Amino acid sequence: MKQWRMLMMLGVLMVAGIGSGCAVSKSNIQGFNLISIDQEKQLGDKFAGEIEKQYTLVKDPEVQAYVDSLGKKLLSGAREVKFDYTFKVVQEDSVNAFAVPGGHIYVQSGLLKAADTEDELAGVVAHEINHVVARHATRQLTQQYGYTLLLQLVLGQNPGLLTQLATSLFGKAGSLAYSRGMESQSDFLAVETMHKAGYNPQGIVKFFEKLDKMNHQDPNLLTKFFSSHPLTTDRIKEVKEEIAKLQPRSYSAGSEAAFKKAKEKVR
Ligand SMILES: [Zn+2]
Repeated sequence: MKQWRMLMMLGVLMVAGIGSGCAVSKSNIQGFNLISIDQEKQLGDKFAGEIEKQYTLVKDPEVQAYVDSLGKKLLSGAREVKFDYTFKVVQEDSVNAFAVPGGHIYVQSGLLKAADTEDELAGVVAHEINHVVARHATRQLTQQYGYTLLLQLVLGQNPGLLTQLATSLFGKAGSLAYSRGMESQSDFLAVETMHKAGYNPQGIVKFFEKLDKMNHQDPNLLTKFFSSHPLTTDRIKEVKEEIAKLQPRSYSAGSEAAFKKAKEKVR
């Protein structure tokens, strides 16, 4: 890259950095990102490789087919599908799901166990899909670690650091912290995605409220979800407000029987 272009991009980055304190429209998914789509795919594949060494994947074909179909249906309601998304279940009791750059989505078995309906599970998966759609992870990582370091990871120049970051950002004891604005945008887009795909977005509200209650009863159980997706009454309120703006429709995408079967299998 020519030097002047680099300088110009840095200028834009600084302005974007200053501007990030201001309210940005939750509807705008074109946030500034130095990492290209191709680079994000490469980085995501590398992270996914590391993560799958650290977790035990649930390899049951029925469970796999179920999350594939849930993910695919939800993607039909997403704004953009720029990545080859993958959906996998990992054996891990805490209630959580997480997204790795480039569209690798992991559902923890604890989440499947805690969800009572498919809409509740779909709400969390839709939220994770939209962290990818709005490319939050690469934006957050560029801000946290700098473009140069991220590029080294993309190019495979620093495998030691890649392993270390995979553990601290996506491993069992770690988590990538998104900004409050990013969480709020993912919630906003999740409502839209579910509505368009034919899942009832009330599932998000129900699940968040249930988790909030469960967390008061046994904080140890849910720490992971709350540390990576801080849940506030504001967040629940905002989701309710978005749902109230939707045109009424019937929701028929879900398959409660398939959901129950998958849930039984991970138990
Ligand atoms: Zn989130």
